[in-house]
Amino acid sequence: MTMAIHTQPRSSHFARAGSHARSRAPRALGIGALATAALGACGLTDEPAQELESEQAALAEQPSPGAPGIGDILYPGLGNGGYDVDHYDLALRYETASPSQAIEGTVTIWARATQSLSQLNLDFAGDAVGGVSVDGAAAAYAWDGEELVITPARPIKRGKRFAVTVSRFAASPAAPDPDAFLDAPFFTTPDGTAWAGQPHNAHRIFPSNDHPRDKASFSFRIDVPAGTTAVANGELAAQPAAGGRAIWRYEQREPMATELAQVAVGAFTVTDRGRHRGVRVRDVTPARLTAGLAPKLGAELGHLDWLRERLGDYPFGTYGSLVVDTSLGFALETQTLSLYEAAFFDQPAPYWDSVMVHELAHQWFGNSVAPTQWSDVWQNEGHATWYEISSMADPDSPAFTGFAQLVYSLGDLWRAYLGPVAAPYSGDPEWLFNANVYYGGALVLYALRQEVGDATFRATERTWVAKYRGRSASTADFIVVASEVSGRDLTAFLEAWLYGTTTPPMPGHPDWTVDPVDPQLAAQLAADARLAPAQVPMKGLRPIMRH
Ligand SMILES: [Zn+2]
Repeated sequence: MTMAIHTQPRSSHFARAGSHARSRAPRALGIGALATAALGACGLTDEPAQELESEQAALAEQPSPGAPGIGDILYPGLGNGGYDVDHYDLALRYETASPSQAIEGTVTIWARATQSLSQLNLDFAGDAVGGVSVDGAAAAYAWDGEELVITPARPIKRGKRFAVTVSRFAASPAAPDPDAFLDAPFFTTPDGTAWAGQPHNAHRIFPSNDHPRDKASFSFRIDVPAGTTAVANGELAAQPAAGGRAIWRYEQREPMATELAQVAVGAFTVTDRGRHRGVRVRDVTPARLTAGLAPKLGAELGHLDWLRERLGDYPFGTYGSLVVDTSLGFALETQTLSLYEAAFFDQPAPYWDSVMVHELAHQWFGNSVAPTQWSDVWQNEGHATWYEISSMADPDSPAFTGFAQLVYSLGDLWRAYLGPVAAPYSGDPEWLFNANVYYGGALVLYALRQEVGDATFRATERTWVAKYRGRSASTADFIVVASEVSGRDLTAFLEAWLYGTTTPPMPGHPDWTVDPVDPQLAAQLAADARLAPAQVPMKGLRPIMRH
């Protein structure tokens, strides 16, 4: 157990690491609104006062362009302002069975305007766009870098629901390079293609509002040659075949962030494990490898039970694993269908077993409850790492305590080199998915549990995933939940752990010490920031297996 936590696996294939609520401003109530409210109160209008007020305001509002970014601290251009997406209707055509082919697609995005819009942006960095329409009428568009700037024939009023269709867009897959972390969102394998859009790359495949703050349901319609398998997030809804083609339709009904979309097409086998306590479980594997992989993937049934015992209902209708036979350098929690590389399952079982727990835990932390800012990614990784390690060792065991003490000793170094737990220095994926977000994030949860006790900690976790199920939430929201559940104001305590540049004392372990920051290394890292994630001291801790 301790070995599994503290040491690097013999094969370092996966451990290349080192190398490896939206807030609304309070609005003054004007005279017009007061009159409207009075009319409503007197029963002189059948419109609810508030609705009428906002309608009047929308009429008076001059349409303006939506912002080209949603307001992410680390990725200013990611996502867009001025609307909220409700649903993506994504139709994709795979002309042949070749894994290297480009796809052509049409996406209809159903959204609601949050301001009166003269223009709106989608994120898109694929190969081509055929045309754009808004509510069925052709719209002018310009493709500027990774922004598709759309000017509808008529402005869209605030509060109005509308549909944008981008037709005949195209995107090409690339061979994944395990040394170019997360840089092939649409990637080839010997058996077909699959997706890995985290954190900011889904729009390299399809036009979207590419940020986890704007989640939406998805419908997939995947048109492939007969005999080719197509799988996507959610549940298989229909599978008609005609004329040598097959159409696979999937519905992801629960809201999903674009970065978690998954479409795998090729010579894959779908192993249906039926319903496990209400959850449809299916695995997707290269047909050649299914016999060897299927027994190992069955471990996910026990993982589902173990996590439901701790966290309550699994948040989706479907779960399973997608295994690809190529070297990615990471595993990824694509929604309802976690992605792994085949060689991963050649490792000793405790290793892949705990990482499977990590990816499943993400279905609650990161997927169902998505971050509002990418700098909140500790919410995803800290919690997933907590359950990953808890699945190997009880949090009160010597093995877990030793792990926590070791991570604790590195706290100041990591904060100096990588950024505080909830404030990573950079959105470069090499930096964003760093040791302080994973291990440091898990250590914040360890500190919270030390402070409030196991029962309150467990209740906090359950409340968090229940309260924000299907939504996006911030680190500040987590602090509020922790304070409410414990009946104490934990703001100062958690802010010190999450945002402090030095490591706070560990409750219950006054003897634990923190290593000093090496000024020489700090100077070296300051001179060449690119060194940091690779050079950060780990003291024998397993470098982050990126997942
Ligand atoms: Zn993870």
